[in-house]
Parts: sequence; C-alpha cells; structure tokens
Amino acid sequence: MDKGFEAFRITRQFTDALTAMGLTEPTEIQKMAMVPAMSGQDVLGIAETGSGKTLAYLIPLVMKVKYARSGYVQAIVLGPAKELVIQIHQVLERLTANTDIRSVCLYGGIGPKEQAEQLKAGVDIIVATPGRLLDLYSRGHIHTKELRTLVLDEADRMLEMGFMSQLRRILEVIPVKRQNLLFSATFPERVENLAAEFLEFPTRVQSAAQGKPVEALRQEWYEAANFRSKLLLLIHLLQTNDWPRVMVFCSTKDSATRTATYLDRQDVGEVRVIHANKGQNARINALDAFRTGAVRVLVTTDVTSRGIDVEAVSPVVNLELPSGHEDYLHRVGRTARMGREGLAITFANEAEKFNLIEIIASVDSTITEMPWPAEVPIAPDLPGERQEVLRELDRRRKAADPTFQGAFHDKKRKPLQHKPKKKLTSKKKR
Ligand code: AMP
Repeated sequence: MDKGFEAFRITRQFTDALTAMGLTEPTEIQKMAMVPAMSGQDVLGIAETGSGKTLAYLIPLVMKVKYARSGYVQAIVLGPAKELVIQIHQVLERLTANTDIRSVCLYGGIGPKEQAEQLKAGVDIIVATPGRLLDLYSRGHIHTKELRTLVLDEADRMLEMGFMSQLRRILEVIPVKRQNLLFSATFPERVENLAAEFLEFPTRVQSAAQGKPVEALRQEWYEAANFRSKLLLLIHLLQTNDWPRVMVFCSTKDSATRTATYLDRQDVGEVRVIHANKGQNARINALDAFRTGAVRVLVTTDVTSRGIDVEAVSPVVNLELPSGHEDYLHRVGRTARMGREGLAITFANEAEKFNLIEIIASVDSTITEMPWPAEVPIAPDLPGERQEVLRELDRRRKAADPTFQGAFHDKKRKPLQHKPKKKLTSKKKR
C-alpha cells in the first residue's frame, strides 16, 4: 500500500520491527512529522499521547543513528517523568530490535551506578529525564560532542514541572549544530517561547484532536453529595460493569491513597495506587500489572498520569475534578486511544460542578448528566468536608463577582472577636 510505512523509505529492519509491533499504517502525526524530520529539519509537533507521536520522532531518529554509529551518544530524548521515559525507551527497544543500536534509559529515584555502567558500555541513544541526564553528565558519564538530535517530548509538561532551567543547562552543554524535535500536547505561551529559543525554522505539525477530546469518547457526569458517596457510586459502577481496565483520578496523594485503600476492601478486583510518593519500583510494577490486566483499577493523581500509554483503558473516572481543562484533557486522553471507543465519568460535588462547567466549555465538548442510581446510598460528609465545599463555593462566586459577600467566611469570622463572653454566661445563669 502506498500509504504504508514503506512510502517513507524506512529501512527494512525498522519496517520489520513495526510489523512485529502490529503497525502497518502510519498515524496522521507520523505522516506529517516523518518527512520533515527525516530530511533533517527541526519539527514542532503538537500532539497528545495516543496520536502515535513517539514513533513520529523515533523513526526519523533511528534512521539517522543507523548510518553513523560512533562511540558517543548521537541522540537524546528528554521526557518529564520516569514512567514516560521508560515507556519511550520500551518503544525504542522494540523499534531497534533488529539492529545493533544501543540505547539506555536514565531517570531518578534509583542510584545512578547501574545507569553509569550502561553508559560506560557505549550508547547511541539516551532517553532521559532532564535531572538525571544532567546528574550523569556532571559526573562525566555522558559525552555529547557527537550529539546530532535532541528531542523534547511533552514539552508542556516539562515546563509545568519547572524543568526550564535544567533544559537550558542541557542546551548549553550540547553541540549547537543539531536537529531538534519538540513535541507537546498543548501549546501555551511558555511552550511557544521554548520553541522559539530551541528550534530553528521548525516545520509545525499538529494532530487533529488538539484541545478537544476525541469523537470516540463518551463523557458522563454525576452530581455527588460528598467524597464518601462518590466512593459508594464508584464501587457500584465497578460491580455492575465488566470494565477490565479502569483508571481513577484523584486530586491529591492523600485522597488517592484513601480511595485505593477503601476499594481494596471491596469486591471490585485488584486495585493499585500510584502517586509521586510511591517508590520507583512500586510505580513501574503497578503500571505493568495494569497493562497486563492483572490489576483492574489503577488509582492515580495528575502528577503521575501524563503520557502513560496503556491500551484499552475504559473508563477514566474523575473521582475528583482536576483544576483546569488541560489536566482534564490529559486524564480523559488515557481512554479512547487509537480509534477505540472510550468513556470518561466525572463525579462532581456542588463546588466542583462550577469547575466542570468551565472545563467542558473550554474543551468544547458535551457531557451527559447521569441520574444518581437509586440503589446507591448517600453517605455522610467527612469531618470538615462541608466547610471545604462552602469555602470553595465562596471562592468561585467571588471570582465570578468581586462584590459578592462571602456567605461562609463572614459568618464564621465576625462573632469570634467581639463577643462579650461574660454577659452571655451570666444571662444564661439567670
Ligand atoms: P503515542 O502517542 O506515541 O504514545 O502512541 C500511542 C499508541 O499508539 C501506542 O500504543 C502505539 O503502539 C500506537 N501506535 C503508534 N503508531 C501506530 C500506528 N502507526 N498504527 C497503530 N498504532 C500505533
């Protein structure tokens, strides 16, 4: 077929590897990015995980490395988080399975010794998080003089996570003459600035679904009284549907842990939690088990979720709402991938409802309100939960209308300072 990977003059070893991976037709972003990238141009790719962006830059990259093998690293791919770089590296290993290209994956959370040993043995391509790359570079384990290609993947996320100064330091220590490929799911101003600093006359390519959930995604929401009721609803949904892989998003490590602990005691299948405080191995193991289907429910936070590519996740459950539409898009982007159908279910309390309305408006899509199932009881609030919701409601109303007098704060604050305590007690006595 003329639209297949062969049309891109990809060497046999790699097309064979792609076939072994079950891939025959390039995705849209691959079609758009491969030609300019293979001709040596800088590329700015706006594409989310799920679009096939990893191979869109890895194929041109391995094609280039293949012809010029030397003792030093020739290409570096940078990503924001351990899980993502491990995933990229896995794809790279499969792509280079029929070659003698050597690659290593560098990330923090474990001692650098083993990674330093791997580097010593010789490497052509490094996939790394910025911090660990700089660490090993400053220890003298990485020689960049032969570097010809630099890829920044999930650039938006890297900037959000505060990697700008590390990226600048990396740019300082690598050769100026090189090809740059920058991929980002979104294109806010800071990514635009980074692109201006980092790319030379880039070809811009963009996958269609930017800023909007894909068509194959169904979105539903339930209004929930409180956190405990959300948990009861989640259990009900898990018990009445035969979903094999469910991702549950919480807004904090604490609520993720609490949710996972609670679910674990119910009859809902294997449950795991991953968040930033979890050890490296626990995170990787949980993801692998989720991927193979051994774990049915993966509870997580936004910090660890980005870029995670697990096939056939559905539904994504927002047990708590993210703060903005970008995180919402990332979360729901874990489902309905590569043309599959997907479902995203959001539980919102009275305050979160505001947020949801804003999110849905800014991602320009529709979400269906679902009736609370009659068989699911409404649980009592957690201690302090109602106050939290009221405070948040106040904050939102004030943001919408600066003249709004906070119903919650004012009531609470006033009497405390001026109350004549004595009189009150003496009156009571009479
Ligand atoms: P990515 O956006 O790179 O994270 O890729 C998302 C998913 O798309 C991965 O599971 C890939 O295996 C898959 N994929 C990448 N390229 C193709 C392709 N040309 N055809 C079908 N699936 C693909």
